[in-house]
Amino acid sequence: MKSRHQRGGSPSKGLRLVKFSSSMSNKEMVHKLYKAMDNLALINSTIDLDDLLLIIMKSVQKVMEVEAGSLALLEDEKRELYFHTIAGGKEKIKEIRLALGQGIAGHVAETGKPMIVNDVSKSKYFYRGADEATQFVTKAILCVPLLIRGKVTGVLQALNKLDGSDFSQDDLILFKSFANQAAIALENARLYSMAVYDGLTRIFVRRYFQAWLESEYPRVKRYKSDLSLIMFDIDHFKKFNDTYGHQAGDYVLQEVARVAKESARKSDILARYGGEEFVIACPETSPDKAKNLAERVRQAVESHAFEWEEQPLKVTISVGVASFAADPEDDANRFLKDADLALYASKEQGRNRVTVYAERLAA
Ligand code: GH3
Ligand code: MG
Ligand code: MG
Repeated sequence: MKSRHQRGGSPSKGLRLVKFSSSMSNKEMVHKLYKAMDNLALINSTIDLDDLLLIIMKSVQKVMEVEAGSLALLEDEKRELYFHTIAGGKEKIKEIRLALGQGIAGHVAETGKPMIVNDVSKSKYFYRGADEATQFVTKAILCVPLLIRGKVTGVLQALNKLDGSDFSQDDLILFKSFANQAAIALENARLYSMAVYDGLTRIFVRRYFQAWLESEYPRVKRYKSDLSLIMFDIDHFKKFNDTYGHQAGDYVLQEVARVAKESARKSDILARYGGEEFVIACPETSPDKAKNLAERVRQAVESHAFEWEEQPLKVTISVGVASFAADPEDDANRFLKDADLALYASKEQGRNRVTVYAERLAA
């Protein structure tokens, strides 16, 4: 029988090809690479930006075996770095902004080159303000850029190795390739978020809502499960634009979206349906419950203290509710039309009210 060696390379021989330097044993290196790959798989499993930021930070701690890690993103227009997440360190770092070129992170962001500083007290680049604000004691920093098509989008930092040793070239190579993957995942999440969230109100765009409804509706129809739609439109919205300007109108839109989001449940899908028209899809929600929720949203908007340039604004909405009725002729668009008709009835009857699409509920 052939030995493993004869068959084309023992594991150690193959791995020697990718070994970074002599400071790490093969066993240590394999262990680190496995850990890195496991964490990268986790990073690639989410598209939600906030979840992703947290996963990346936890992974930095685990993969790099450090006390803390931080992630700062570059705000293009301001040419400023702002810390997004931190693991192991102090939340206060999120209040810190660094100019391009300021501190080790700012320097790495400016040059696009990674940096190892094993004794920060001797580095002219180290920015003490961060430690002062957070009460964290930074001894050593490994900082790498997040690059997308050669452009810096932020930096990742690993702080203080747990075993107290210096950051090595091996650590740098590992962290650099980790950062390359993290940068791609972050870019994907950013593009996804731009495609599905409305830029002004940060709720779903109509296209996302439509796609969601079209994929959900056949399932609801098949299992005859509850699904309700709440559609609402701001009353006399035009007057906010006309009286106070477009920016005041934008403010009202943002606030209405925020208030509606707070009233809805986590499982509800809230979207900006048109200029000043919104829709909430409520899965597993009976007509009665949907009506209650619609009334809650209406009241929440009516009692919310809107204020523009120290002037109180009176904002109300008209609401239409439609609930799934087991009609074989139904499709998602007809369902939307029902909600829209109910909303129109609310407008007709004097605004600032909720109307349920009764005809088909009774059917
Ligand atoms: P009604 O009570 O019948 O709904 O009256 P309304 O004034 O709310 O409705 P109308 O459809 O006449 O006016 C809607 C206005 O919303 C017209 C449009 O210029 C404005 N609008 C649409 N999108 C935006 C936006 O993103 N920002 C701002 N500021 N205004 C917007
Ligand atoms: Mg309106
Ligand atoms: Mg309208």
